[in-house]
Amino acid sequence: MVTLVDKGEDLKELVQNLTFKEKVDRALQLIQEAYEVHGDSLVVAHSLGKDSCAVWDLAKKVNPKIRGFIVTTRFKPRTTKEFMNYMVKIYPELKVFESHAEIPHELYKTDPDRCCDALKVEPTRRAIREMGVGCWVTGLRCTEGRTRTDYLEREERDKGLIKLNPILPWEEREVWQYLALYQVPVNPLYGEGFRSLGCEPCTHLTAGGSERDGRWLDTSKCGGECGIHTRPLKDNVPA
Ligand code: SF4
Repeated sequence: MVTLVDKGEDLKELVQNLTFKEKVDRALQLIQEAYEVHGDSLVVAHSLGKDSCAVWDLAKKVNPKIRGFIVTTRFKPRTTKEFMNYMVKIYPELKVFESHAEIPHELYKTDPDRCCDALKVEPTRRAIREMGVGCWVTGLRCTEGRTRTDYLEREERDKGLIKLNPILPWEEREVWQYLALYQVPVNPLYGEGFRSLGCEPCTHLTAGGSERDGRWLDTSKCGGECGIHTRPLKDNVPA
């Protein structure tokens, strides 16, 4: 069977040439094709952001049994934690992972990469291991910012672990279009004007620019990544 990702289409052309409906249909087909291969080992990584909300809704349309995991931290805003509790109550198949590791005071100021590694990457590795994940599904989009242009709709950065990015060619407007059309609940913090959400000390309001410009503002990591999309998630992980 020739799957969508086997066709090797140019990502920029997909962003520019597909209509909203074609992007939605493509995302559903990508998840469907992956679910046929991976079954219950296909799991959605739910960040509680708008993109994850769209992907979670798409996955549920493919199969309501699809599971997910949420990585939370001690620094997530209270509103995000309330939204997380709301989501887990509706969807008990969403499992929450959190690190309680001891880290230096205000590590997010002195070494945000180390802080993210301890509080975000390590629990993501644990989620993948404990949930037996063979394919994780993310809300990554190539139009989000400078660090997100170099991904594929289906990747295998870690051997034996497929990453599916079904809304990779969607633009910000199309995410909101989807969420509005299908009345998908989102984190109320978007009402305050945030365009990308993370931990409280590292997420700031910005006007204009790229969606992720408010992340790690005024640090070398500004607009960057927490590491779950760039660091190994399977290799060297103790069993
Ligand atoms: S986003 Fe900030 S507070 Fe959260 S884990 Fe990364 S550096 Fe630490």
